[in-house]
Amino acid sequence: MKKFSDLGLSEELLRAVTDKGYDTPSPVQAEAIPAVLKRRDVLAAAQTGTGKTAGFTLPMIQILDETGSQKPSKGRPIRALVLTPTRELAAQVQESIKTYGVHTHLRSAVVFGGVKINPQIRQLRDGVDILVATPGRLLDLCQQRACKLDQVNMLVLDEADRMLDMGFINDIRKVIKLMPKKRQNLLFSATFSKEIRHMTRELLIDPITIEVSPKNTAAQTVSQRAYRCDKTSKTKIAIKLIRDGDWEQVLIFTRTKHGANRLSKSLDQAGIQSSAIHGNKGQGARTKALAGFKEGSVRVLVATDIAARGLDIANLPHVINFELPNVPEDYVHRIGRTGRAGQEGEAVSLVCNNERPYLQGIEKIISQKIPLIDLNGFEPELWPAKGPTASEVQKEEAARKKAARQAQGGGRRKSNSPKPSGPKSDKSDGSLNPPAGHKAGGRGRRSGPGASRRRNPRGR
Ligand code: AMP
Repeated sequence: MKKFSDLGLSEELLRAVTDKGYDTPSPVQAEAIPAVLKRRDVLAAAQTGTGKTAGFTLPMIQILDETGSQKPSKGRPIRALVLTPTRELAAQVQESIKTYGVHTHLRSAVVFGGVKINPQIRQLRDGVDILVATPGRLLDLCQQRACKLDQVNMLVLDEADRMLDMGFINDIRKVIKLMPKKRQNLLFSATFSKEIRHMTRELLIDPITIEVSPKNTAAQTVSQRAYRCDKTSKTKIAIKLIRDGDWEQVLIFTRTKHGANRLSKSLDQAGIQSSAIHGNKGQGARTKALAGFKEGSVRVLVATDIAARGLDIANLPHVINFELPNVPEDYVHRIGRTGRAGQEGEAVSLVCNNERPYLQGIEKIISQKIPLIDLNGFEPELWPAKGPTASEVQKEEAARKKAARQAQGGGRRKSNSPKPSGPKSDKSDGSLNPPAGHKAGGRGRRSGPGASRRRNPRGR
């Protein structure tokens, strides 16, 4: 097994890694670090929680430190740019850069939407070597001439598949136009989809490909099970599981923002302290909820899929899928919040009759059967021998939405009438603005159990 000292890292970085308490590099680190240090483009498919952040930040810091300009901080140009899909991930990556770069003199900053732009402008003016950004705010800053990318010689796309899913492709292309053609490109992605391979051809030159885990697999250390139940029993089941198991830290995923709020309220009423995190919450509330959860003052975090990617919560032992995602890949990302860095974790899904096709879709992509069992006292009343098909569920959902619209007095909406405010799936990306050039309806993604990629980004 390789050691960190075998990878070509400088003494400063080895010290930072030791300070952090790491003994051995993870597989993605063992492959990515030497490849990046050789100045090669890299395409890495690593599942979440594998240590990919250090896989790119460590060598990036080393290269920038070695080629560091002696300029005073004020005149320093941005030489490395990391793009991430969400604000939370951006903040987390910059934290890693600070941690690993502690023994260097490099300066880093993070910019994302939802917060005031002026402090970010000031910070950039003060000089930054490494910038971590979400695409929307970065373009705003560039348009305001507060940020120049003409000296960037290293670009990292983190969670690249998520950025594509969220319709950021046009923004990414715009950002790329602002950078020099000659630069090193690193593309990290949890899944290795056709779209990612397409982007690779557009962006990377003769990349070293790293694929440390098979496609769409959950970490081996996560035990998975699903409970058959009625939709109406789910809240009670969640409360029972948390109480009976004495679970101290639980991340629960719902499909909609309203669902997240409702569940969080019910948990609070049951005496289980919780916070909800989703795209309708202001950035301050999101940061506070996440910080509370990380430090343990918030016992349960109820989240939409916005939290499914990239968040690193140490030793998170329990994830509950209150509702199954209708995009099967999201399941992998959700349960990837637990079992990180070799820790044991448990992922429990609550499955009602209508979600049976979703479960099948998930089992298909993870090539694994998830044990489906009953919870004593909560056996479902509605569970016919043959479950509904994917298209039946889709039709039913469409009819339900139509009825909800009509109940709100809307019927069919006119194109210039306001949007109904019924439950929506949370597709908020985390950056301030919808991506520039990002049209409602976007690429017309398919939805439902049969969808292989993201759905229509409207409302995200
Ligand atoms: P990431 O996949 O980059 O989000 O990292 C997942 C978690 O693994 C983070 O908490 C890291 O601090 C931790 N980690 C990264 N590299 C190592 C390592 N070599 N040994 C132990 N833990 C690590």
